[in-house]
Amino acid sequence: MADLEQNQLIDRHRAVLPSWLALYYDEPIELVRAEGRRVTDSTGATYLDFFAGILTNAIGYDVAEISDAIRRQLDTGVLHTSTLYLIRGQVELAEKIAKLSGIPDAKVFFTNSGTEANETALMLATQFRRSNQVLAIRNSYHGRAFATVGITGNRGWSASSLSPVKVSYAQGGYRYRSPFGQLSDVDYIRACADDLREVLQTTTSGDVACMIAEPIQGVGGFCVPPDGLFKAYKEILDEYGILLVSDEVQTGWGRTGEHFWGMQAHGVMPDMMTFAKGLGNGLAIGGLVARPDVMDCLTANSISTFGGNPVATAGANAVLDYILDNDLQANAAKLGLRLSEGLHDIATRNPLVGDVRGKGLMIGIEFVVPGGKDPNPKAAVRVLEETRARGLLVGKGGLHNNVIRLAPPMTLTEDEVDEALDVLGESIAAVPGGVS
Ligand code: PMP
Repeated sequence: MADLEQNQLIDRHRAVLPSWLALYYDEPIELVRAEGRRVTDSTGATYLDFFAGILTNAIGYDVAEISDAIRRQLDTGVLHTSTLYLIRGQVELAEKIAKLSGIPDAKVFFTNSGTEANETALMLATQFRRSNQVLAIRNSYHGRAFATVGITGNRGWSASSLSPVKVSYAQGGYRYRSPFGQLSDVDYIRACADDLREVLQTTTSGDVACMIAEPIQGVGGFCVPPDGLFKAYKEILDEYGILLVSDEVQTGWGRTGEHFWGMQAHGVMPDMMTFAKGLGNGLAIGGLVARPDVMDCLTANSISTFGGNPVATAGANAVLDYILDNDLQANAAKLGLRLSEGLHDIATRNPLVGDVRGKGLMIGIEFVVPGGKDPNPKAAVRVLEETRARGLLVGKGGLHNNVIRLAPPMTLTEDEVDEALDVLGESIAAVPGGVS
């Protein structure tokens, strides 16, 4: 529990940081140490981390290979000078990501965040197509700057209604509350494709720059579209010459288990992919990988002062190597299945749980008012607090704020999955209406 000093820090935070920078928990926590998949707060309490800093810590904490790579760079004395000079680690990382992307002759640009990556993708697409019309997906989240907020379809996060781009929304993977009712995959995809054609015909002039989409919506509550939805979309986009941008900020690096990139589940090659979060395993790095003609369409200079700096790229190269060398994608697939089976078991006896969904180590639990489908955000908040009290950190999200999100580091073990399932079962049982 928080002591006096900790309470003062919370007050100081509220006094000097913006009101819209919300903190988790009735008594917010300060994490001061971490190792493996466990974090320790300033009171000495330890937690199994099933949110990993909103998927930033792809491989967990205090991994020797990563710390050593960063330390070697620090030992040179060069944290960063300028991206106006050659940075060896940047070139090496770009080569690896270009190859992994599958995009022929791909080019890579590094940024410091996912927001900046998506802003860059939007700038490139609008410039390439000479149009400021953009298609996004309902309930999406793409970042917190001017254009990315403008295309964010989740009301809770679209902090400004003013936008430099004109956006129209297509249907995505939120099937639990689908406007088309409960359909088979094939019929759902057909309904979405018909809807996209109508959106294009009624809300755009046709010369749209791009569609930007999260293969699985993150902030939106881990909503999974049926495999192949984006294939159906891509066929329509191709008729119009519209580019496809896959926002892989949460779904990249093998987290979805089946594939290295989330969009691969749909059997299409996007024109651009944006990434961030897990690649740095805690260091600030993001970027985009794109078709060379799209990447090179700018004629003026454009650099990022810190994007792809030596420390961030030293760390990111080591993270990427670690993911590949240890086949963490396979671990995400295997343990994701174990986690999901356990959660379905809890869901069957709990009318508070309306839906369990996800892929790999990206699983959402949607809470409802028992007896129907009304969103139950109070239950989700209560589960957040109950899990914390039992030593487990989880995330919250969803359009109605009623989804608990699980996204542990991909180095997770079977014992840790079982530990989390026990805590989740007990925590849901502790919510009014919950069943043990
Ligand atoms: N895209 C997606 C899918 C995200 O989940 C996020 C962050 N939650 C962003 C973009 C923005 O990334 P950042 O916070 O690093 O700017």
